[in-house]
Amino acid sequence: MASVTLEHLTKTYPNGFISVNDVSLQIEDGEFVVFHGPSGCGKSTILRMIGGLEDITSGEIYLGTDLLNDILPRDRRLAMAFQNYTLYRHFNAYDNMALGLRLRDFPRTVIDSRVKDAANFLGISGILDKKIKALSDADKQRVALGRAIVCHPKVLLVDEDFARQNDDRRREMLRDILAINEKYKTTVLYVTNDYDEAVSLKKKIVYMKDGKITGIG
Ligand code: ADP
Ligand code: MG
Repeated sequence: MASVTLEHLTKTYPNGFISVNDVSLQIEDGEFVVFHGPSGCGKSTILRMIGGLEDITSGEIYLGTDLLNDILPRDRRLAMAFQNYTLYRHFNAYDNMALGLRLRDFPRTVIDSRVKDAANFLGISGILDKKIKALSDADKQRVALGRAIVCHPKVLLVDEDFARQNDDRRREMLRDILAINEKYKTTVLYVTNDYDEAVSLKKKIVYMKDGKITGIG
């Protein structure tokens, strides 16, 4: 089960600033949820706490019935797509996508079929042997998404910085993420401060302000 439950989630920084303030929310298995709110309202902090990049001050995060608070990020079955997707520039696309599976000791045949399946799905089968540094930004972004989905994550976290560069790329990226949500039934948490974009997705929107949820529509 890939439902995500936030219970009284709070983040207080050492300087006393409360960036996420007692947020409770239930996200269903397979759901695509958009977090929308002005810059600084705590959207990224929530994603980072779910992803394990940021300590939780108080409250609980559950994936299904598992308490995530004390599970190491690499064991959380989550994938994160952020702007500075750290691809290895001197490795080819295939090796970049395979890396996470290799680190988890998946058999070669499984790695191969998953990478090829994801590449086919994202339309990058033809560039798998190319080094990252030789790829266009659009293809780098697809490789980064491919790397996320080959691990068959239960939840995909996408922050708004991912594909900021231009509108066409952004629409393409959104199409890919909507398709991943459809095909793999991956639960998606998508952050944007762009209201038109949030509405255009026709998905559940969680409205935030000053670290709190102000509405769900
Ligand atoms: P959003 O993603 O919605 O733009 P963030 O989650 O990045 O907002 O940040 C929420 C708030 O937390 C912001 O006001 C930001 O300045 C503050 N913040 C982020 N990191 C720190 C930190 N290390 N110390 C103090 N405040 C921080
Ligand atoms: Mg942010």
